[in-house]
Amino acid sequence: MSPLSSDSLKLADIVEACAVATFLAGPDGQVLHANRAFGKLLGYLPTEILHLGIGQIVHPDDAKKAREQAVALAAGDIDSYNVERRYVRKDGSLVWVIVSALPLIDKRTGKLRCISVQAVDIDRQKRAEAALEESDKRWNLALEGAGQGVWDHDLRHRTAFYSRVWRQMRGIGLDEEIDASREAWLARVHPDDRKRLQDEFFTSKSAGYRRDSFEYRERHRDGHYIWILSRGRPMEWMPDGRVARIVGTDTDITSLREQEARAAEKTAEVYRQHLGALEKAQGAAEAAQELAQSLARHDALTGLPNRRVFAEALDKAVARANRGAGTYAVLSVDLDRFKPVNDIHGHAAGDTVLCEVASRLQGVVRESDTVARIGGDEFAVILEFGSSDDSTKAAADLAQRMIDRIREPIDGPEKRVVVGASIGIAICPTDGSDSETLLRAADMAMYRAKQDGRGGFCFFEQRMQIDLLAQAALEEDVRHAVANEEIQPYYQPLVKLDENRLAGFEVLARWRHPVRGNVPPDAFIPVAEKLGLIGQLTYSLLRRACLDARHWPEEMTIALNVSPTHFADPLLPVKFLAILSETDFPPTRLEVEITETALVSDLPMARAALRSLQGIGIKISLDDFGTGYSNLYHLRELQFDKIKIDRSFVTSMMNDPQRAKIVLSVLALAKSLGMTTIAEGVEHLQTMKELIQGGAEFGQGYYFGKAMPADAADKLVQEAARGAAPRSAA
Ligand code: C2E
Ligand code: CA
Ligand code: CA
Repeated sequence: MSPLSSDSLKLADIVEACAVATFLAGPDGQVLHANRAFGKLLGYLPTEILHLGIGQIVHPDDAKKAREQAVALAAGDIDSYNVERRYVRKDGSLVWVIVSALPLIDKRTGKLRCISVQAVDIDRQKRAEAALEESDKRWNLALEGAGQGVWDHDLRHRTAFYSRVWRQMRGIGLDEEIDASREAWLARVHPDDRKRLQDEFFTSKSAGYRRDSFEYRERHRDGHYIWILSRGRPMEWMPDGRVARIVGTDTDITSLREQEARAAEKTAEVYRQHLGALEKAQGAAEAAQELAQSLARHDALTGLPNRRVFAEALDKAVARANRGAGTYAVLSVDLDRFKPVNDIHGHAAGDTVLCEVASRLQGVVRESDTVARIGGDEFAVILEFGSSDDSTKAAADLAQRMIDRIREPIDGPEKRVVVGASIGIAICPTDGSDSETLLRAADMAMYRAKQDGRGGFCFFEQRMQIDLLAQAALEEDVRHAVANEEIQPYYQPLVKLDENRLAGFEVLARWRHPVRGNVPPDAFIPVAEKLGLIGQLTYSLLRRACLDARHWPEEMTIALNVSPTHFADPLLPVKFLAILSETDFPPTRLEVEITETALVSDLPMARAALRSLQGIGIKISLDDFGTGYSNLYHLRELQFDKIKIDRSFVTSMMNDPQRAKIVLSVLALAKSLGMTTIAEGVEHLQTMKELIQGGAEFGQGYYFGKAMPADAADKLVQEAARGAAPRSAA
């Protein structure tokens, strides 16, 4: 029964009828009467809730304040309050509410009857706010930690947020109001940068943002200017397509700019000294200045414009093309066989080649065209055509002339060398309406030209974009497959030939994609290598193979392929050791197969990796022998345990006596070096017999069995243990 008087009972009825969680409390905050909605909010039955005190309802952190407020209300010091606080449910969970409290005064006596309290559940809203705040905070912290100021412009409402670092950069106080209008911002920008910014940043048409990064000077509060690298990105758009919100970061690059200026000044100084004797100080300074400037804009070796200048020129060309003033072709020119020139003939020869190519390219184009060097052996060209020209034909003709000219021998410091060039062509505006897209298109076409056999040119086609997307999709799938261990170890039998006895298995990676179906390792291994995931994949295969094979008889080995790119990883031996001990698999039962490609790029490194693996007890096989460099020096020097004769020789032994001879002589050679041999690609009984005669010890191939899942390999092992020959079992 409620402790309220009969008069108050009417009050209780009103409270009960109220949809909002409501209760009546005594001056100490104790519940005198609560409605159903309040019971529901806190998970109590209406009867359970009577007499509960502040201590039971309000979160301990908020309880003191709640008590004070109840006392103040009861005493008439305040006439209401409205606060956010946490309530505690019967089950102990918390709920955020907005509490509004009013004192109810007895009209006759003027004394307090009770306090009426209403609580509105704002839990979901609070949580959402907290999550948002948390992610905003983290994001801002990360950027601010990196010294970047964060800004967030709401163009619709002309409001903005500026972070702490953003303000510090400009000497603006943390809680100072900032005028977020474009005019106010431009007023802070250096007068010399204002026009450029306006042109680059805002397009009058769409009031959107054309470029997403630029450098400019802005006035610091104390009057000096700072250089800012500003990067922004539209986040929300209005229904008419205009940008509504843009978020970005600012980096203070003043000291970087000053360094650049100092470097230029230093260069100027050096030239001032040298030329000082000859020219008047004034003239010398000017010349030096000019040189310093040209040094920053031109490639020091060839004197051609550099990437930056090229991008500027291309921007201008694109703008003209977009206005309908002419057509342009962008050529991406990449030298073929340049690396060997550098490696074999030395850098002086490489420099000569680059300078000669630069001047030959300039000789082919017209004055109005631009030739630039944009990377090591990469050049780029902008060709300009009149409206009556057949730009495709003209670009093709010029590209061919460039290729022909570059192909002519070049007299180096010591020797005459020959290089070639592959060229990709993009037409502006057909293939793109901004410089970045065009250059990328030309690059894509250049890669295609290289793929199609070097020394040719290729026009960009939309198809390449699609290929690129397909490649990206495959990469994404490989990433996913490696992360989720969807790529499985399969096992192909290795057979001791003269005894026709199962000796072990080669681990081969198998990937069955839900949509692509079976993807061959030749397709996904290179992708995993490119993505830097080959290590992760190899370790995962090794771990699973060790677990699968550990209960097989002791003499059964497993052979694992290790990619050349991965072999150079200094952590590899340690990682292998860790997996072997973790799976309790003896190193002596493991073989690693590597191809010669792993050795050529860094021989000392390869030697070290080999030695440390062998030091653990792992055996090393030289895979695909016959296809690579087949360097006898490597064979002896690196002391492989085994060599695997490539399947292309073995499969064709029966029909190609020449190939059979090669196999037999390799076998003889291996024997003389005291090395064990494995012949891969044994498909027929006849081949097996010839191999045994030639002295091959081990064989592998479809004749004995294809790669199979672990349970099938298990069965084969059990049958072998009962004395069955692999061939009859497979
Ligand atoms: P590989 O190391 O030379 O592996 C032997 C390949 O020959 C396997 O192709 C195997 O299925 C195939 N083969 C075996 N017996 C015969 C035969 O009698 N006739 C013919 N025509 N072929 C036979 P697979 O599995 O498609 O692997 C291709 C290549 O992919 C491997 O050549 C290896 O270089 C690479 N690869 C496969 N698994 C892995 C792996 O786990 N890691 C790395 N790094 N590379 C792998
Ligand atoms: Ca292999
Ligand atoms: Ca092989």
